[in-house]
Amino acid sequence: MQPVGKAGFRQNVDLMFNRAVALMDLPPGLEEKIRVCNATYTVRFGVRLRGQMHTFTGYRSVHSEHMEPVKGGIRYALSVNQDEVEALAALMTYKCALVEAPFGGSKGGLCIDPRDWEEEELERITRRFAYELIKRDMIHPAQNVPAPDMGTGEREMAWIADQYARMNTTDINARACVTGKPPNAGGIAGRVEATGRGVQYALREFFRGPEDVKKAGLEGALEGKRVIVQGLGNVGFHAAAFLSEEDGVRITGIAERDGGLYHAEGLNVRAVRDWITHHGGVTGYPDAQYVENPALLLEEPCDILIPAAMEGVISRDNAERVKAKLIIEAANGPITAGGDEILRHRGVVVIPDLYANAGGVTVSYFEWVKNLSHIRFGRMQRRQEEYRHQILIDELDRLSKDTGIGWQLTPGFKTRYLRGADELELVRSGLDDTMRTAFQSMRSLWHERADVEDLRTAGFLVAIGRVADSYRAKGL
Ligand code: GLU
Repeated sequence: MQPVGKAGFRQNVDLMFNRAVALMDLPPGLEEKIRVCNATYTVRFGVRLRGQMHTFTGYRSVHSEHMEPVKGGIRYALSVNQDEVEALAALMTYKCALVEAPFGGSKGGLCIDPRDWEEEELERITRRFAYELIKRDMIHPAQNVPAPDMGTGEREMAWIADQYARMNTTDINARACVTGKPPNAGGIAGRVEATGRGVQYALREFFRGPEDVKKAGLEGALEGKRVIVQGLGNVGFHAAAFLSEEDGVRITGIAERDGGLYHAEGLNVRAVRDWITHHGGVTGYPDAQYVENPALLLEEPCDILIPAAMEGVISRDNAERVKAKLIIEAANGPITAGGDEILRHRGVVVIPDLYANAGGVTVSYFEWVKNLSHIRFGRMQRRQEEYRHQILIDELDRLSKDTGIGWQLTPGFKTRYLRGADELELVRSGLDDTMRTAFQSMRSLWHERADVEDLRTAGFLVAIGRVADSYRAKGL
C-alpha cells in the first residue's frame, strides 16, 4: 500500500471495502464485480482562450450501475487524476446505498485551477467539457447525473444544465440531468448547504447515543464541545457555522491552505469566511492566534475533528498525534486505510465519509425527483390544506347565519392547521430523517456484531449488502 497521497486513494477505498467484505459471505465473483470500477472515460479537449488553444483533461468514471442513473459530483482541481476520480466514484456507490438514494456511483473531474480563469472563460471550458460528456450520455437524466464537488458550484451546474437543454431540446426532463443547480434554474432550496447540514445532523444523531459518546471517550451533549475544522469551503463552512450557531459547539481551530487560526473560546466562523473572501486566506485575521503550518492544527487537542478538505490528510504519518476523540469525515477519504488502523487501535471513533457527507447527494436526490415530477416541492400539499381551510371558514359562516351565533376559528388556528411545509422545511426534515435512519443502520451492526469494530466497516457492510442485493435481483 502506498502510504499517503492521491496515488493510493483508490487502493485505500478498496482496503476499506475488503475489511468489510471479509465479514460477509459474498460469492467471490460478486465481490469482485462490486469492487471494480466499470469504466472511466478520459477526454482531452481544446478551448481557444486568450488568443491561443488550451488543452484540458477531464474524466468521468462510472463505478457501479446496479442502479441508474449513476450519480456523483464533478471536481475542478489541478490534482484531479484517474485514480482519484475512480476512488471518489466508488465512494459514491457506497454512499448512495447507505442513505438509500437510488443511484449507482460515478464521479467526474477536470484538471484545472478555477482561480486561474475569468468567469466567461470558465463558462466556455465548462460548456465544452459538458458537451463532450453529453455526447457520450455521461450526462443524462436517466443515466448519469453530476453535481457540484470541490471547485464547482451552482454556477457550473447551471451552465451544464443549459448545455444539455440546448443539445436535447425535446427532452422534457432535461433539468434532471444535473443537480445542485441554482433555485431559479430548477434547483432545490437547501442544496448548497446540504452537505454541511448533513454533517450537523450526523453529529446530533451520534450524540443521541450516550453509549457511543462514551465509547469515544467523551461525555455529555454536543453543546460546548471543542471542534477543529480543516477547510472552510462549502462543506466545512456550513458545518462549522451551523454547529457553532445552533448547537453551541466552540470552533476552536480552522485550518486553511495558507495557515490556521486558533482561539480557545471559539472562532466566529462567518467572520473568518468573510476575511478569506476579502483577503484570499486566513493570514492576518485579527481575532485569533495564527498557526503557520495548518497541518499542525489537526494535532491540536480538541473533542471533535472535522476534516472537510482533501483526501489523505490523516495517515500513518500523523494519526498517532491526532488528539481528537471523535473524527467526522466531511471530506471524501480524508483518512487513509493506514491512518484509520492507527486511530482504530487508539480508540478514536471515526464517523466515516460514506455516511458523514451523504447530505449532499441526499438533497440532490430530492432535486432530481422534483425535476422529474415537474411539481414544486410542498406546493400540492399546501394548496390542498389551504382549500380545506377555506371550506371550514365557509361552513362556519353558514352555521353562524343559521344559528345567529357568530362562529369563528380561534386565533392562530390557520398556522396550527396548515401543516404543509415549504420546500426548505421538506428538504431539511427529509435530510434529517435520512441521516438518522442511515446512522441507525450502521449503529446497530456496530453494537450487535463483535466482529464489526468500527462505524466505517458497519457502513460498508450495510452499503455492500444493498448493492449485492440489487445485483442479485437483476440476476447477475
Ligand atoms: N459531490 C458530492 C459528494 O461527494 C455530491 C454528489 C451528488 O450530489 O451527486 O457526495
